[in-house]
Amino acid sequence: MKYRIEAFENLVNAFQEMPSIGKKSAIKMAYHLVMEDSFSAMKLAHAIEEGVNSIRRCKKCHNMSENELCSICSDEYRDNETLCIVQSAKDILTIEESKQFDGVYYVVSEVRDMDESHLFYAVGGVNEIIFAFPPSIATDTMILYIEDKLLGLNIQFTKIAQGVPTGVELENIDVVSLSRALEARVRI
Ligand SMILES: [Zn+2]
Repeated sequence: MKYRIEAFENLVNAFQEMPSIGKKSAIKMAYHLVMEDSFSAMKLAHAIEEGVNSIRRCKKCHNMSENELCSICSDEYRDNETLCIVQSAKDILTIEESKQFDGVYYVVSEVRDMDESHLFYAVGGVNEIIFAFPPSIATDTMILYIEDKLLGLNIQFTKIAQGVPTGVELENIDVVSLSRALEARVRI
C-alpha cells in the first residue's frame, strides 16, 4: 500500500500548478502552511479569496482593478494624452515602479483578442502611443496591426528603446533599464 496523505497531496498539487513552482517548493510551502504556520495559511487563503473575488479588469484599459475603472484611468492627474500599450497588466506594475511614466495604459495580449471598437474607445483623446513590448516577431506584428488600425488618427507612435532584450518579459527587466528604455523611446 502506498503511503498517502490526501489533503497534503492536494495542497502540493495546487501549489505546483502555479507558475514557476516546482515540486520541492510546493512541498516546502504546503508543509510550512499546514504544520508550522496555520495563521499565515488562513491569511493566505483569505487573501486569495478576496483577490479573486474583488479584482477584475478595468473597463477601459484592462488593467487589474477593484472598480469598474482602475485607479490609473480614474486619476485626473495622469496625462491621458499619452497611452502606453503593454502585453500584460503585470507590465503596468513594472512600469509604475520605474516612476518614469505618468500617462495611461492599454493592455493587449494578442492580436486575436483585440476588439477594434474597444481599441478606438481606449485611444480617444490620445496623441502619443508608446508600445512597451519586449521585442519579438509577434510583438512587431502586433505593433503593425495596431498602427494600421489607427492610421489616420492624429497619433504619434513610439516604442521603448532597444536595450530591452529579445524574448525577455518586461517584468524581468530591471527598473533602471526600463526607465532608460522608456525615456529613450523612438518614433516608429
Ligand atoms: Zn484602467
